[in-house]
Amino acid sequence: TKTVSQIFATQKLPVSFEIFPPKGDLSQEEAQQVASQLAPLDPAFISVTYSAGGSGNSSRTLEVARLIQRDYDVSTVAHLTCQGLTRQSLAKKSARLKEAGIKNVLALRGDPNPEAAPGDFEYASDMIPQLVEGGFCVGAAAYPEGHISCLDPDIDVAYLRGKQDAGASFLVTQLFFDNQLAYRFRERCHKAGITVPITFGVMPFLSKSQVSRMIFMCGASLPSAVVKLLARYEDDPESLRAAGIEYACAQLQDLATHGVDGLHIYTMNRPQVAAAAVAAIREVL
Ligand code: FAD
Repeated sequence: TKTVSQIFATQKLPVSFEIFPPKGDLSQEEAQQVASQLAPLDPAFISVTYSAGGSGNSSRTLEVARLIQRDYDVSTVAHLTCQGLTRQSLAKKSARLKEAGIKNVLALRGDPNPEAAPGDFEYASDMIPQLVEGGFCVGAAAYPEGHISCLDPDIDVAYLRGKQDAGASFLVTQLFFDNQLAYRFRERCHKAGITVPITFGVMPFLSKSQVSRMIFMCGASLPSAVVKLLARYEDDPESLRAAGIEYACAQLQDLATHGVDGLHIYTMNRPQVAAAAVAAIREVL
């Protein structure tokens, strides 16, 4: 398997997927099932989210990433949040990821959790140097509309530049529904001297409740085209899902034709979402 840097150096428009580790007792079987359906779509890499909250969830990220690499020979990115971590606990986690053959880590802070124990890292950028020293190819999160708790987009991009300076070699964006905002963000990044590849994350909307959860969690704006679709299919969940996938596919096609560095699909563990997205991207390449 490869590092994400190697992938960006050798592939034009890498298309990657995000999955989350399935919960519950059948998690390994479920992960196997999701992976077995995603791997044939030939993703450049699959990133696996990390849940900092108790119940041993954090090791699930590693297990799922290991399974994908071992059984499907697809490169993986393990997400890792630094909130509450000490240098020592990060060293331990790094050693385990290394042992599992995982070469890429997405360095994140995690959403604010007042119950988290005090740790050694305040911001994601604080943990990046230790991960780079540990030999990982490190990525970081980027926010086309600015992070929800940062009101000035220029300051947010300056912090993003800080992630590159700390050693991040690729960036993955938060979801967004309006591509014009993504193109303006790309401009701002270039002006701020950000040169590492930025891969743009797209998530199809599947229901009204999912959309409202997402926008309040990450602050993405809703273009009226999306609001109208949500209104039109309010009582028809199946058509709404189809419209959401269609909208995301159009977004991906537009991004592909605007020469972005990469595309990242928030699959929500639904292979049919990933398959539709990949087919749409292939149509325009
Ligand atoms: P940071 O970069 O640390 O930024 C946090 C806040 O601090 C921002 O408001 C930023 O503007 C500000 N800031 C940054 N640097 C400085 C500085 N030097 N001085 C002052 N202020 C600063 N969460 C999970 O729990 N698990 C996951 O697997 C996960 N995956 C994600 C994947 C992607 C692609 C994205 C975009 C987000 C993901 N998240 C995940 C959510 C993420 O943890 C939250 O968005 C979190 O609130 C911020 O994480 P960050 O790494 O961007 O934080």
